[in-house]
Amino acid sequence: MDQQVRVRFAPSPTGPLHIGGVRTALYNYLFARQNGGAMILRIEDTDQTRFVPGAEQYIIEALDWLGIKFDEGVHIGGPYGPYRQSDRKAMYKQYADQLLRDGWAYYAFDRPEALDDKRKEYEAQKKTFQYDCNTRETMENSLSLPAEEVQRRLESGEPYVVRFKFPADLDITVHDLIRGEVTMNSNLLDDKVLFKSDGMPTYHLANIVDDHSMLITHVIRGEEWLPSAPLHVMLYRAFGWEETMPRFAHLPLLLKPEGNGKLSKRDGDRLGFPVFPLDWHDPKSGELSSGYRERGYRPEAVVNMLALLGWNPGTEQELFTMEELIAQFSIEHISKSGAKFNVEKAKWFNHEYMQQLSDAETADLFLPQLKEHGITVEENAAEEHDYQHSTFSRQFVEKVCGMMKERITFPSELWETCCYFFEAPTEYDPAAIKKRWKEGMPTHMGKVIEILNTVPFEYEAIHKALLDDYIVGNGLNMGQVMNSLRLAVVGKTVGPDMLTLVMTIGKEETIRRVQRAVEKIGDVN
Ligand code: GLU
Repeated sequence: MDQQVRVRFAPSPTGPLHIGGVRTALYNYLFARQNGGAMILRIEDTDQTRFVPGAEQYIIEALDWLGIKFDEGVHIGGPYGPYRQSDRKAMYKQYADQLLRDGWAYYAFDRPEALDDKRKEYEAQKKTFQYDCNTRETMENSLSLPAEEVQRRLESGEPYVVRFKFPADLDITVHDLIRGEVTMNSNLLDDKVLFKSDGMPTYHLANIVDDHSMLITHVIRGEEWLPSAPLHVMLYRAFGWEETMPRFAHLPLLLKPEGNGKLSKRDGDRLGFPVFPLDWHDPKSGELSSGYRERGYRPEAVVNMLALLGWNPGTEQELFTMEELIAQFSIEHISKSGAKFNVEKAKWFNHEYMQQLSDAETADLFLPQLKEHGITVEENAAEEHDYQHSTFSRQFVEKVCGMMKERITFPSELWETCCYFFEAPTEYDPAAIKKRWKEGMPTHMGKVIEILNTVPFEYEAIHKALLDDYIVGNGLNMGQVMNSLRLAVVGKTVGPDMLTLVMTIGKEETIRRVQRAVEKIGDVN
């Protein structure tokens, strides 16, 4: 195909963008970039009853955060605009008229109550009513009513809809790039509403007219649209646009972690993970749904995780930059079956991408938490640390981040993981006291203080004097003494290599903490 690839992401602004929708946008983006094509953002807001204020802005912000960029769209314009369907309203009627004129569509006047009655009548017989080639003659429409009557109703302004007229008993084949040929018989298909007398098209008409007039070459969208695809194929045929009909690729569903059923907002609430890219405050209920961004996920991690939910590279590689995804993505490697969402994997990806941040970037994420805890960070502080005034240099914060980031999955864990670099413990873990702080520990801690005060404050020198000469040399229990020291400095028995920690917080602060622990814990056990 020499034609330029043009794809679109076409969400309806009915609420926050579901993570499955984000994946659809991502796959479109990867495909467009790989083929040197154009990526378009079109807002499908023909169903005004489902319009939610703020949803369009949310979609734009979310995709921007993830690095999914557009070449044309509602927010940036372009040569095929406008890109919001409500702004294109005036152009759809002529297409509905064309279908009516060519016998591909008809007017239907059935009132909602009449349709309801019909449905109930069928239900009573344990059947489902469908407005189709078998039933339409029994309904109130331009196929069943005399021409003059139709004319009269239209002229008197009676509300109507325009329905597509499926030919009877026709096998309609959709060529899907993921599923191959999918064939459905028209007898099973509903004569869908295309246009309403208020001048608004429905999704089906607007979608086809817009894809055609925006020269879309590939429609990559969720599997939930596969049942509509035969109607779409028929619309291209009815308009005489079959030659330039886009190629279809229907993406597998994102499934619940257990694997049965589509991933929903409720699964997120139940299992404690976000199903939306950004926090969303529902304008009506005020309810807050949490987003990946606010939970501390890196955009690269979300992109990487979503790319692999439904697509596989055919290799063992798991970590992909956007550039690598663009290079390696292929529609052939998208699976037909649904992809199970995996919360632990999402966290794993985030952990990996947290490690790729520089110490300076990690420090930037840490600063607000430090501030919240009353810690002052000075860009060019003379001292690395001034524990008396809770003031630290920027370099010190970066150093701590470099040392500790491998223990972190989310930035929100930074304070909890690193707090003892910035303030002395105020409590000591009782279980650790019981296990480690054995008889004679104040004496051993006194020796630690003496060593720190006498030997050069260097890693090797302290190691020799404390671990080799004092602990090993006197046949003491290494775990007990060193863990007691850790308890004194950290408050718990966690943290990095003990002497590295001592070197980082410095001699005075270590001594102060050890003295305080001896005073507070005393000679127990
Ligand atoms: N407006 C539809 C949606 O919200 C778009 C479906 C399509 O891509 O054709 O998902």
